[in-house]
Amino acid sequence: METPFANSSDEDFTGALRRARSTVDLLAQLHIAPTPSRFTLIFFHQSGEMADLSKTVNRLLSRDKLTAQALDELHDEFFGRFLEKTELRNASQRIGQTMTEVANYLDAASGSAERYGSVLADFTGSAGQMGDLTGPANLRVVAELSDAIGKVLAETRTMAEINSLLEERLQLSIREIELLREHLDLLEREAGLDALTGIANRKSFDIVLREAIALASREEQPLSLLMIDIDHFKAFNDTHGHQLGDNVLKLVARYMKECVKGRDTVARYGGEEFAVVLPHTRLDAAAKAADVIRRHVSMKKIVNRRTGTTLGQITLSIGVAEYRPGEPASELVHRADEALYLAKSTGRDKVAGEDQLPASR
Ligand code: GH3
Ligand code: MG
Ligand code: MG
Repeated sequence: METPFANSSDEDFTGALRRARSTVDLLAQLHIAPTPSRFTLIFFHQSGEMADLSKTVNRLLSRDKLTAQALDELHDEFFGRFLEKTELRNASQRIGQTMTEVANYLDAASGSAERYGSVLADFTGSAGQMGDLTGPANLRVVAELSDAIGKVLAETRTMAEINSLLEERLQLSIREIELLREHLDLLEREAGLDALTGIANRKSFDIVLREAIALASREEQPLSLLMIDIDHFKAFNDTHGHQLGDNVLKLVARYMKECVKGRDTVARYGGEEFAVVLPHTRLDAAAKAADVIRRHVSMKKIVNRRTGTTLGQITLSIGVAEYRPGEPASELVHRADEALYLAKSTGRDKVAGEDQLPASR
């Protein structure tokens, strides 16, 4: 996506003024209060500079679905991520600079620096990917970068130990890298990873789903959503304790990830509830994917590593819904939730599709 803040400077005064007026007019017609973000969005839509945005706005308009909420969601989607990407890029540039400095120090020490050099090269590879951050890929890039920084830090420490000549300078670098890592930890949290399970958290689920919807609309491709809830998890916690419960959540997250493809996103929706976004997937295929997850998890025995005792089986109930063009994300989530409720009320350890819901929906 183009940066939304470019190209406007040479616009002539009267044209811009006309556009500002028709922006206010359109918002007034729709009875939507012109907040700065909604104004910006419609202003850019009217300019035609962002084809994706205009296409989405026009589609919503033609269906009478251009509400204040829809505009706020669109603003997040088209403009919100821009700031986050800038932050990540700045971090990556600073990391790159520090790495170059470290490499320069090491020129003085040649010989023993070989392994360190290859770690740095790997790192430069990861940092290089920061150049083309797009959408949900941010999560992966941040995680990889965090990992790479860990390795560089470890190697820098080793170098500092084995080479007293360089020690002082490398100690400075260590401090620098540690600061960068702290900064990246922060970005990681902001980028939306769940601290317990390491998968996408609720915040990034919301973003990923909105982006997946925008993409599905643009490419006219299907998109499905799974809402997943662990069965009788309160009883598990009551019997075995919260800590083992936490371990089960981590395991379930891992098992779920094992079942899905790279373009799919597994997220912790909250508590013991998870969600999976399945781009390019219709309802029937999504129901099959859901059943693969359900069976995979139910086949695993949960063992208490400390005592060696088997704690039995964990089962999941899963609701499946397919995106309907033009609807807001919340409606898709709602239908998947209703299907999940159906799976619960009809026996648990099962998958229910929205097509099994009463016809009135
Ligand atoms: P159901 O089959 O109807 O889903 O029953 P349930 O017991 O799983 O559902 P309920 O909503 O009654 O309870 C959810 C439980 O999930 C309550 C809480 O103890 C547990 N839980 C939620 N978040 C966490 C967490 O982060 N860690 C642990 N250990 N347990 C959690
Ligand atoms: Mg629940
Ligand atoms: Mg539950």
